[in-house]
Amino acid sequence: MKNTKKKKRMFSWMNPKLEVRDTKKYGKGVFAKKNLKKDETLFVMGGYVLDIKDENHLKGFPEDKAIEISEDFSFCPLAPKDIELMPQHHVNHNCEPNAGWHGQVFMVAMRDINIGEEITYDYAMVICSNRNSKAYFKMKCKCGSKNCRKIIDEEGWKNSGLQKKYKGYFQWYLEEKINKNKNV
Ligand SMILES: [Zn+2]
Repeated sequence: MKNTKKKKRMFSWMNPKLEVRDTKKYGKGVFAKKNLKKDETLFVMGGYVLDIKDENHLKGFPEDKAIEISEDFSFCPLAPKDIELMPQHHVNHNCEPNAGWHGQVFMVAMRDINIGEEITYDYAMVICSNRNSKAYFKMKCKCGSKNCRKIIDEEGWKNSGLQKKYKGYFQWYLEEKINKNKNV
């Protein structure tokens, strides 16, 4: 019999060793179904690309879902159903994360990841204040890690401890700023 089952096309590539499921704590998250090696690609991100003007016009749902890829551009679902095509937006923040970036669109494992572990990154690897932005990101963190910073905002990337800890795993534009010593 002819196999008529079509592969679901996505905006992003998610490693088949990963799955999206309920965290039972804070909505959905992404988990390892199999062990992953350090630097293995977790996602190749794609989706709707927003510029800072578009971002300034966001209201309601998508506001906190953008993933910055430069100071003025981000990936962002525009409606809840878009997240299914852009599953990188299900990855949650943690102050003791196991994932980071290579370049702009490759989310990678920052260390070996065991089956069953939740995939997380630190928002400090991605977010930076932008004078053209009308919004300022700030949230209370309850990740529970012993290094939890409690308040996560747009200044985290300037923290020299974090710069050391995540060296080589920040979003490309922040890695560039750090390497040029531009803490602005
Ligand atoms: Zn935390």
